[in-house]
Order: sequence, then structure tokens, then C-alpha cells
Amino acid sequence: MRIYNTLSRKIEEFAPINPPAVGMYTCGMTVYDFAHIGHGRKYVGDDILRRTLAYLGYTVTHVQNVTDVGHLSSDADSGEDKLEKGAKKTGKNVWEVAEEFTTHFYKSMDALNVLRPDIICKATDHIKEQVDLVGRLVAKGFAYDTSEAVYFDILKFPSYARLFGQKLEEKKTAARSEVKTGVHKKHPADFALWFKRVGRFADHSMHWESPWGDGFPGWHIECSAMSMKYLGDSFDIHTGGTDHISIHHPNEIAQSEAATGKPFVRYWVHHAFLIVDGKKMSKSLGNIYTITDVKAKGFDPLALRYLYLTTHYRKLLNFTWEGLEAAAKGLERLREVMAQFREARERTMLSADKLAKVDLLRKKFTEAISDDLSMPEALSVVWEVVKTNIPGYDKYDLLLDLDQVLGLNLASSVQHSASSVVIPEDVVNLVNRREELRRVKKFAQADEVRKAIEKKGFAVEDRPEGARIKQLKITF
Ligand code: AMP
Ligand code: ZN
Repeated sequence: MRIYNTLSRKIEEFAPINPPAVGMYTCGMTVYDFAHIGHGRKYVGDDILRRTLAYLGYTVTHVQNVTDVGHLSSDADSGEDKLEKGAKKTGKNVWEVAEEFTTHFYKSMDALNVLRPDIICKATDHIKEQVDLVGRLVAKGFAYDTSEAVYFDILKFPSYARLFGQKLEEKKTAARSEVKTGVHKKHPADFALWFKRVGRFADHSMHWESPWGDGFPGWHIECSAMSMKYLGDSFDIHTGGTDHISIHHPNEIAQSEAATGKPFVRYWVHHAFLIVDGKKMSKSLGNIYTITDVKAKGFDPLALRYLYLTTHYRKLLNFTWEGLEAAAKGLERLREVMAQFREARERTMLSADKLAKVDLLRKKFTEAISDDLSMPEALSVVWEVVKTNIPGYDKYDLLLDLDQVLGLNLASSVQHSASSVVIPEDVVNLVNRREELRRVKKFAQADEVRKAIEKKGFAVEDRPEGARIKQLKITF
């Protein structure tokens, strides 16, 4: 498989540390508000990556965090904790807010058929791991204590700018305009590892004891602490939205590599954003749609999943209701043909060239997904399967196989009837023998074999695409 690695800014051949095992960490939601269709895009993107790896034979351990403390309104250190803000808005306490939106998030992901990560870890359940990691950074001289917070000293980590490829000087100006607080920082882009419950955070409702006083962890440290706890100091894949390239992920790399002295992550995968009608989603524009909104308009959430697949994950996706309508039609059509293929309830002998066709289509699909997750191409192979000249039942089987990656739940959309016919092996052998006799023009003998097949309760029909077997109705 080839995948674009933000770290090298190149499409690279994927080579995990301990194949076939793959460790994959995805930054999860900050659970202070409803998950929207932009989140859906990002997490379906991760799900496609995970399913692709599994399809290609890797054994994936997928870890995802839940941010329930420490994420301020800016990804840098300014503003208010998003959870505290959510609590004020709803009149609930922070724990209730976290619970409500975590549940909503995973329900939304279930509706989009996103496989649950193997490990879901909450920041607030891992305070000890975060305090320990901050302790290691302080002990090694990568962090310094001030009256307001413990900060990471980015100038001690020379490769800090590697991921975003910008000069640290440019970052300095950007960070300076962003950070109105943090007066004790040595460098404007230094970031908090541990906030103390003082000053603007004197009333912070989530807080824990630490060697640096009562307080709470900064946002970035949770991802370093939890990913390394579950996947080891060095692991294969880390994903996130493109918004994490400039702050959150460089901070994770700095914290982890400074603490362990080892490379943190091999492949950094970043998903592009979803916008609505050409504009960024925002409360003021009233264009933040949730999965519930999608359902309320009569759409199956899997139509949204289909829509996500039509744009490559590194390209901006412009959501429109018309686009969703078209995706829904595509999915509906796919379901219709699946039902037809399934209802055929017949097994056709596949001649060698038909088998080759199935293999070729599967290969084409595998090539598309292996080529930096080219899902638009993979979808076009799906339609090629629908149109190709092979028997329906074989298309059905092939599409079900491909659906392991697509996750469009094609099987459940089909009405299963109890009369699925299993053709005994001796009948299959007879049909093959008859085909061979017909090929060498021994028609009389072929006819004898046909009678033998009928005696066993099956009929054989000759079709341009090959022999078709049907179970005869049993009459008493
Ligand atoms: P947050 O809850 O803000 O931390 O976001 C969780 C993840 O969703 C992050 O990786 C973001 O990059 C991603 N995300 C947020 N908004 C969008 C969007 N409109 N399109 C795609 N991804 C998004
Ligand atoms: Zn993260």
C-alpha cells in the first residue's frame, strides 16, 4: 500500500514496524458539542484506512482518545476550556457534558458504519500517565515550571517544525498574535503541559493534584501519553484533520520524542475538511449539520458515507444537499442491483475467463485502495462490477467482498430469502463434465449428463455467460 505521509510530504510505500501488526492512533472528538458531518468525514476517512489495512491482511490495533479536558478554544493556549464552556452553555456539569456528547459522537459514528476503535481512551481516565510524562520532560530539561503552567520548551527540540515545514520564526509571529496569555513563556510557541488552577483557571472545575500543584493537563499531552501507553513508544500511523498539522501534532511529536528519544510515529495521515456550500461551517451561518439533521431530511446516513467516498480524503469536500441527493441515488441503485443479484439464487459455473474477470476487478479495486486510499476510483470499480458480463450471483459475492472496505452495508440492504440454494458438489461436477462434453461437441453424451443432473433435482440452462443451475421444484 502507498500512503501520503505529511512528515515527508510524499506518497510512501507503507512498511509497518512489525508486520502484519499495525498500530494506529486517531485523535478523537472534543466532547463539548454535537458531532457534525465534518467530523463524520474525518472519522469515515479513518475507518476506510483501517478497513483497507485489514483487507490487505494487516492486523490493526486502532486506538482513539476522547478529549474531555484541557482543549482550549484555541488549539494553542488561549481561551477557555471547551468542556467548561459547554457546561456553561447547557447548564450541566462538565462530566455530564462529556458523557452526553461522547454518547452522541459514537451513535453518529455507528450510523455511519464506522467500526468502533479497539481501544477508546478518555483523557480524564489517564491523568496519571500524563503527569508521569510531564515529569519525564521536566526531569530531562525539556519543560519548565512557571507560576501559571508547566511549559514545553520548543527551542530545546530542534526538529520542532518538521511536520508543518515552516520556519520557527514564522510560527513565532503567528503564535504571538494568538497568545494573549502565557506571559511566562520563553518562546511564544511554547505550549502548556500542565495548567495550574490559578488566574483565569482558578475556578476550573476539573482538577487533579500534581507535583506542580493542583491543575489539569494541557490538551496535547493526552495524545502522547495514551498513544504510547497502548501502542508503544514508536508506532505506525497517526491521523487527524489538517488543522492538527500546525500545532497539535508537532506538539505531540515534540513531547513524545523528547521523552523517549525514539521516533514517535512513522506515517502521519491528515484528512482534509468538509465545507458546506463553499463555506466553512459556522454557527452564524447556521450550516453545521449533524447526522440527526441528515436523517430528518429523509436520508440514510450511509448515503452520507457514500458521498464521503466520492472525494479523495486529501481534497476539500464541498457538501451540498444536492450532492447528498445524488449520493443517495447511487447507493439506492447499488442496493437495487444487489437485491437482484441476490434474488437470482442461482449458481453459475464460472469458466476460466469469467474467473479471470472477477480476479481482475478485485485487483483493480485493491490497487485503487492501495493507491493512497483512492476511493473515487474504488467506487468506479464497483460500478464496473455492476455492469460487467459475469453472472449476478458472482457479482453479489464480489461486491460483498469489496464492501468490507466500503462499509456501505450492502448485505443488510438485501432481502434475504430462506431459499438460498446450496448446490451439492456432485451436481457441480456433473455440470462441469457436461460443459466439457459440449465443448468437444459430444452433444448426445452431454444430454445424458443433463438427465443425470435433473435426477438429482437440478436443471441446467445454457446462457451466453455460462451454464446456469436451478433447483427444480419438488412436487409430491
Ligand atoms: P475536535 O472535536 O474539534 O477536536 O475535532 C475532532 C476532529 O474532527 C479533528 O481531527 C478535526 O480535524 C476534525 N474536524 C473538525 N471539523 C471538521 C470538518 N469540518 N471537516 C473535517 N474534519 C473536521
Ligand atoms: Zn490528538
